Amino acid sequence: MVQLKTARELSLMRDACRISAMALRAAGEAVRPGVSTKEIDTIVRRFIEKQGATPSFLGYGGFPASACISVNSVVIHGIPNSSTVLREGDIVSVDVGAFYRGYHGDNAYTFPCGRISANAQSLLDATRESLYKGIEQAVAGNRIGDIGSAVQRYVESRGYSVVRNYVGHGVGANLHEDPSVPNYGTAGRGLRLLPGITIAIEPMVNEGTHYVRVKNDKWTVVTADGRLSAHFEHTIAITPDGPKIMTICD
Ligand code: MG
Repeated sequence: MVQLKTARELSLMRDACRISAMALRAAGEAVRPGVSTKEIDTIVRRFIEKQGATPSFLGYGGFPASACISVNSVVIHGIPNSSTVLREGDIVSVDVGAFYRGYHGDNAYTFPCGRISANAQSLLDATRESLYKGIEQAVAGNRIGDIGSAVQRYVESRGYSVVRNYVGHGVGANLHEDPSVPNYGTAGRGLRLLPGITIAIEPMVNEGTHYVRVKNDKWTVVTADGRLSAHFEHTIAITPDGPKIMTICD
């Protein structure tokens, strides 16, 4: 069931989202050659806890870390560890959520590690832009399918593919709640959007095929063809004045 948030709930949620955004920024500032994904996870965890918040992902479904850190052909749910050490040219997707005073915020960004190839930069640019194409459609009166359709059309126009097996989601008192927000679909279809709905829009975009597989650790999702993948995410609220991005720092 879709929960409509009151103004008071949105204000509380904004705090959780701000902490999530600041934690993501701190993670991005730590991305450089020679740093392990474990070190970045520690920075995220300490930052969130210092704000009096809790990392949303830590222990969620048994996930063992505070951030998902997914390098190059890892799409999502990469488990931070000390043996994955970043190298010049890597692309590093960091997904971070914070739980604060009853609400979650959720956001992700793919950071370049040092100088990256033109191909990698193009994938990052297209994925980030596709997120904003989706956000533009998150207006009251539109339907969920308008968001996915806009993301998919943009991504495919750039020659990339949209992951189908994982989708965006409602976010609020629960990290994942209704509705599902696919990054593909048909305009004019699906749930009608109303003020007070809060959703995470999170295109996962592959350089090659949209097919993915899960590694033996049961978490790490990688591209089936081994090519690059990028991931950008914001938590947004549908308001009478249009979409409001909640996961920003100020
Ligand atoms: Mg999410």
